[in-house]
Amino acid sequence: MVKVTDNTIRLSRSVIGNAEKQAVMDVLNKGYLGMGENVQLFEEQLSRFFGRPAVCVNSGTAALHLALQSLGIGRGDEVLVQSVTFLASFQAISATGARPVACDIDPDTITLDVTDAKKRITDKTKVIMPVHYASGMGALEEIYDLANDNDLRVVEDAAHALGCTYNGRKTGSFGDIACFSFDGIKNITSGEGGAIVTKDMDVLQKARDARLLGIEKDTQKRYSNQRSWDFDVSAQGWRYHMSNIMAAIGIEQLNRFPEFAECRRQLAKHYHKKLEHLDSVELLNQDLDSIIPHIFVIKLKNADRDDIRKKMLERGIQTGIHYKPNHYLSLYNSDNTFLPVTDRIVSQLLTLPLHPKLGEQDIDYICQQLVECLREQ
Ligand SMILES: *Cc1c(COP(=O)(O)O)cnc(C)c1O
Repeated sequence: MVKVTDNTIRLSRSVIGNAEKQAVMDVLNKGYLGMGENVQLFEEQLSRFFGRPAVCVNSGTAALHLALQSLGIGRGDEVLVQSVTFLASFQAISATGARPVACDIDPDTITLDVTDAKKRITDKTKVIMPVHYASGMGALEEIYDLANDNDLRVVEDAAHALGCTYNGRKTGSFGDIACFSFDGIKNITSGEGGAIVTKDMDVLQKARDARLLGIEKDTQKRYSNQRSWDFDVSAQGWRYHMSNIMAAIGIEQLNRFPEFAECRRQLAKHYHKKLEHLDSVELLNQDLDSIIPHIFVIKLKNADRDDIRKKMLERGIQTGIHYKPNHYLSLYNSDNTFLPVTDRIVSQLLTLPLHPKLGEQDIDYICQQLVECLREQ
């Protein structure tokens, strides 16, 4: 077994500077670590970024779960979602009691195949959850059309898509509900964390209560340094709130986002330049000028992916697989779903390193090694 060492080029990583460290120290020195003024400030900053209100929680998974719960989704309901996504999308759906209905993908973008999703609509279907895979938004307009025609709500899993635009508009600034993740390796991080962004006031209020055990209007109290000692609860809640420590990191990361965004985009463009002429590699169909790539995924044609991954690691390069389709998992494969494109494409997907600590020389090295590994096969 080849080990990942300090010299390995990592698939992804957090990039934390002095501003984040100082901001955390300030919170620690103040002695109010829980949810308070830093979270309020981060939410205000995010609301300016999106032009819509944001509710911060402690993970992207929690954001998806609370968005669905706030729409009243539960047992007996169905949510359409592509099978090729992080397990979190599926778990957030099943956490409500609803059934995630695995859908096929467009092979060029690895985003939801709208025609396939349409075929799976039943009278139980309540929500479509498009996943902005590798920061691309695929046929989002058609997804909204399908939702409108069938009275469905849309919860965008925008975990990869902070700062991306679709038809010139920022993800989260339009549409129904968008959920973001600030876990360690996303476009920005708050340590762990996530946010629900929507203009639906009912969803916002329900999510604010539900992140604090369902205690009604506790958010407002905490933002003014108070607690609810006498309160009512009328809905199931969770301990999903964000802490001041997390928010302090998130605020500094959002300030630095233009720097991260530029870097991620340039590195992805450099990958394109190095790989687009290769016969054995296919790039995703993405407009890199409109997205901020969170991961860089390629498709390998006629290659043994596991062998390539092993060889790359021997050369000090970590690679990834995004993702194992969720309908292959015991919990979600009860209805023998058949997804021909997913089944055909998924063993070709390979994720190459992408994070703001890399430079163009690293991309050159990675691509050169990849070409050699492919040639050796
Ligand atoms: C990261 C991610 C999530 C969940 O976010 P966490 O903050 O890690 O809980 C959901 N969906 C996708 C596609 C993700 O990549």
